[in-house]
Amino acid sequence: MISIDKILPLKTVSALLVGTSRKTRIVSVSALILAAVAFGAAGVAPMAPDAANLPVRSISETLALPDLAAQISALEQQSQEFIREEKIRPGDTLGALLGRLGVDDGAAASFIKSDSTARAVMQLQAGKRVQVQTDADGSLKWLTASIPDSASGSLKNLVVKRDGDYFKAIQTAADMEKRVEMHSGVIRSSLFAATDTAQLPDNVAKQIVDMFATDLDFASDLQRGDRFNVVYETFYQNGEFVRAGRILAGEFTNAGRTYRSVWFDDPATRDGGGYYSFDGKSLKKAFLKSPLEFSRISSGFSMRMHPISGQWKRHEGVDFAAASGTPIRAAGDGVVDFVGGQNGYGNVVVVKHWSNYSTAYAHMSHFGKNLRKGMKVAQGDVIGYVGTTGWSTGPHLHYEFRINNRPHDPLAVDIPNAQPLAGNERQRFQGVASDMLHRFALLSPADVNPKLASR
Ligand SMILES: [Zn+2]
Repeated sequence: MISIDKILPLKTVSALLVGTSRKTRIVSVSALILAAVAFGAAGVAPMAPDAANLPVRSISETLALPDLAAQISALEQQSQEFIREEKIRPGDTLGALLGRLGVDDGAAASFIKSDSTARAVMQLQAGKRVQVQTDADGSLKWLTASIPDSASGSLKNLVVKRDGDYFKAIQTAADMEKRVEMHSGVIRSSLFAATDTAQLPDNVAKQIVDMFATDLDFASDLQRGDRFNVVYETFYQNGEFVRAGRILAGEFTNAGRTYRSVWFDDPATRDGGGYYSFDGKSLKKAFLKSPLEFSRISSGFSMRMHPISGQWKRHEGVDFAAASGTPIRAAGDGVVDFVGGQNGYGNVVVVKHWSNYSTAYAHMSHFGKNLRKGMKVAQGDVIGYVGTTGWSTGPHLHYEFRINNRPHDPLAVDIPNAQPLAGNERQRFQGVASDMLHRFALLSPADVNPKLASR
């Protein structure tokens, strides 16, 4: 983990107290402390190229916080208005929380209990912060907190405000700060064990799998000693981690071969961009290497069930062993051509792709929700679940790759990639790619000189 240290010495924080108005002083102290905590808690490298040139390795540790309560109470001595901040505790009640915040205001408490917007305060999880301002006798002027926004998966600001003799509650969009973080990991037992050790959020681990799903079958190709580097976006609000965003670049070394991908914005596409190799070729390949969804459950090379997996058999398909219920994904974009039962195949789905390609997925326990003939599917869409229907001796996926309705070995068929970038786009891409390559260079141990795999 590489980080640029931006932690303000606490003396600087105190020094800033001098010469500002009382109210802003308190707010500044909290804001600065929050910022310091945030930078201490995660390795963060700003996007600025200059900053990225500094190969600073930092150690993540929790900072000793100054006694905020003492500082605030010292300031309160001179004030008729009180600003306080408290964290929600496990098992907290609204009364207990307001008590710690110094709010002695029955009307405010009953408003928070009864108002459909304000009530979100009572659903906050332990550890979340609530700030209030009261006057000297404890009556509430305002209360504010960050609350989860289920629609966007991020946060909103909630403000409960006195308005004469009444209260009102408003929600506003939260300003989020975007950061870029870098992590690396080595596979020792499973991908998810490695991403946990590297403290990567689950959605980043899943993106690593998706990025390389046309190059690697994570269920059967992983080896001890494989390694990865990732550069990804994170979003913070008030110094609190909210969520991880997109992987901007990734590097995966499998069995001594290194695969690299970089995200490139392209507003014309459905996803707003896509992953490219560093020479500007799109990695959106025609077909996934394995139609099985890879998850925590299927993670790990030591425990993989492998008696029949990946073998091209006389019976003209590839069998992938997997637990019953494992999601099966469409290997490529196409249209559903058949959904139903078919003798030995049991429950089978056939997807027709462009040209004369089609894929078949047999022995399913059940089909994807609402899947029907004629429906469009995109690469990676779940079309069914592993089962053992039809002529099958145990749960597995029988997968056929057909050209002109005749099965071919999917691992042996060479399908062309999408067109490489050209012109202005190519130039813009090279700027992005060289920045990311520079970051990988900082993350890689000096003795490793990866052999790039050809795509
Ligand atoms: Zn089979």
